[in-house]
Amino acid sequence: MLHPPSLPDAIDAKRDELIALTQDLIRIPTLNPPGACYRQICEYLDKRLSAHGFATHLLRATDSPGDSATFPRWNIIARHEGAHTGECVHFNSHTDVVEVGRGWTVDAFSGEIKDGKIYGRGACDMKGGLAASIIAAEAFIETHPGYAGAIEISGTADEESGGYGGVAHLAEQGYFDPKRVQHVIIPEPLNKDRICLGHRGGWWAEIETKGEIAHGSMPFLGDCAVRHMGAVLNAFEDKLFPAMAARHTDMPVVPEGARQSTMNINSIHGGQQEQDPDFTGLPAHCVPDSCRIVIDRRFLVEEPLDQVREEVTALLEGLKATRPDFDYELTELNSVLPSMTDRDAPVVQTVAQAIEDVIGKPPDYVASPGTYDQKHIDRIGKLKNCIAYGPGILELAHKPDEYVGIQDMVDSAKVMGRALETLLLPKG
Ligand SMILES: [Zn+2]
Repeated sequence: MLHPPSLPDAIDAKRDELIALTQDLIRIPTLNPPGACYRQICEYLDKRLSAHGFATHLLRATDSPGDSATFPRWNIIARHEGAHTGECVHFNSHTDVVEVGRGWTVDAFSGEIKDGKIYGRGACDMKGGLAASIIAAEAFIETHPGYAGAIEISGTADEESGGYGGVAHLAEQGYFDPKRVQHVIIPEPLNKDRICLGHRGGWWAEIETKGEIAHGSMPFLGDCAVRHMGAVLNAFEDKLFPAMAARHTDMPVVPEGARQSTMNINSIHGGQQEQDPDFTGLPAHCVPDSCRIVIDRRFLVEEPLDQVREEVTALLEGLKATRPDFDYELTELNSVLPSMTDRDAPVVQTVAQAIEDVIGKPPDYVASPGTYDQKHIDRIGKLKNCIAYGPGILELAHKPDEYVGIQDMVDSAKVMGRALETLLLPKG
């Protein structure tokens, strides 16, 4: 009798299939915004996973931000039942990709292969991870048809724009209820030997300073909102940035520079609206009566959201008390709390051991500077046993000439497969 192939051998045998699958996924241009081709990629995944014995369900996040007849927010959730009851391991990948941007030397949607790498927008973030998890699951099912429990694979919309039309919607519908799903792995590009435990929080707000319009030749008759904003930016430079830089965290955030609180000033607009590039006229002479900035404040698990808010508000109130005619309005745009899974959680322990078994070294533990869909699984789903683990180099995400290494995908598929063996094969 032939000895059944081991799972790593089964995954090696699917190398070409893994490459073709990744290329197929890259060739569906699921750009977000606007949220294109979600239905198409769900149908592609539906066909593939149904053929491998998964029960599939397509669901649209109607009325989520951006959902429309032209750009419907479609998601797929596929479930494979084992031969016996047991726990459920869920792999969640987002299907959307960010805009292409400039600076590419290859076609962003061709899935071109060079030097063992597959190129394309979304190659590492995160169609390579999605493909690796599908191959890992299919190889596991073929190798261990008598396994106990269930495997789920979801492809979800809108992660790049907050995940409200994707994982948040699934979580609201109960798909991440700990009674039906026990372990979640999100194959984001965190490198094949690293486990990502969670992410920092984010707080986004618009600040407007107010002034009074007047003729530009007599600015003293008006009140310049841009100068007031200058005072706000000065206060950030003098007080807020040094205070944030002094704050350190136990979260293993990478890269190192993000292991503290940070803030980006996303945009600034003051005075007259910018004209179209082909406008050839000259500006009129006016004192700006409004200046607006959008801030993107990332915070640590040690910082309560209220404190993050109050720190900015206190600076603005300080200016109001000391600077003549200073007036402002702060509008909160969005907030996301930090999330961090314990190192002794079962999915962390299991994947850590799998990395040691497959790659031959203990994993590095990291946390992400930016948020990802773990926040919804944690806060809405109330499921804490969740990590991000997948192939690809984090720093390549959203960059020109994004790629994923083929061997990295194979290795991380083996790690995922090994984790399935630990969690879903009857012990003993
Ligand atoms: Zn991603």
